[in-house]
Amino acid sequence: MKPRADVIINTWVHVVATSKQVTDGWVSDESIQKQIAVMNNAFKVRNFQFKLAGTTRTVNKDLSIIQKGEKTQKLGEKFRKGDYSTLNLYIVKDMPGNTAGDCSLPQSNPGTEYKFDGCRFNWDTLPTKSNGLVVVHEIGHWLGLLHTFQETSDGTTATCTHGHGDKVGDTPIHLRPNGVACVPVDTCPGKKGDDPIHNYMNYTPTSCWTNFSDGQAKRMHSMWKLRVSKN
Ligand SMILES: [Zn+2]
Repeated sequence: MKPRADVIINTWVHVVATSKQVTDGWVSDESIQKQIAVMNNAFKVRNFQFKLAGTTRTVNKDLSIIQKGEKTQKLGEKFRKGDYSTLNLYIVKDMPGNTAGDCSLPQSNPGTEYKFDGCRFNWDTLPTKSNGLVVVHEIGHWLGLLHTFQETSDGTTATCTHGHGDKVGDTPIHLRPNGVACVPVDTCPGKKGDDPIHNYMNYTPTSCWTNFSDGQAKRMHSMWKLRVSKN
């Protein structure tokens, strides 16, 4: 197979904290550098690399504490940089509920402003407070991946009979994990392959994650081309 050239993704990091304390979201430049390194390490084999284009820093309580149902647009209106293929990461003090972070999926009709597009993270998902892999999972979404146990396109929960809806051919059909251990499991014994417990897009513990599949890599590059085509 022809080797794929590395895609370089310009990445802006927007630190939006409630004060200049780390625990209020004011993560250090070192922490940001480490996060970018974790991303580059995870995506290297799939020919994506991330280049820190710049960092903005703001203290704003209203913007730093994300309410349930609040859209990324609110941060995007203030801070978003670049075009539709520029990755914008917003680091905040608090995402709602148990959410550690979220990213928008690529859209076929993004308009021309892209303010809705980007990723938000609790400050404590970054190294060295955490291993930084939640960010890798979320960027998988930004590049068009769904969960390996994704519900079907008609909104029903995936079953072993109906399969999953991640639109990737080589991720084994499996059910959503209900345990938290990193141990081999086959939730759909009648179907080919064990559960992809090491896949970044599964809901196994982050310490278990080591790879994207070939099919996922193909989908990410196709979605990257979609993003570039909208610029
Ligand atoms: Zn996810």
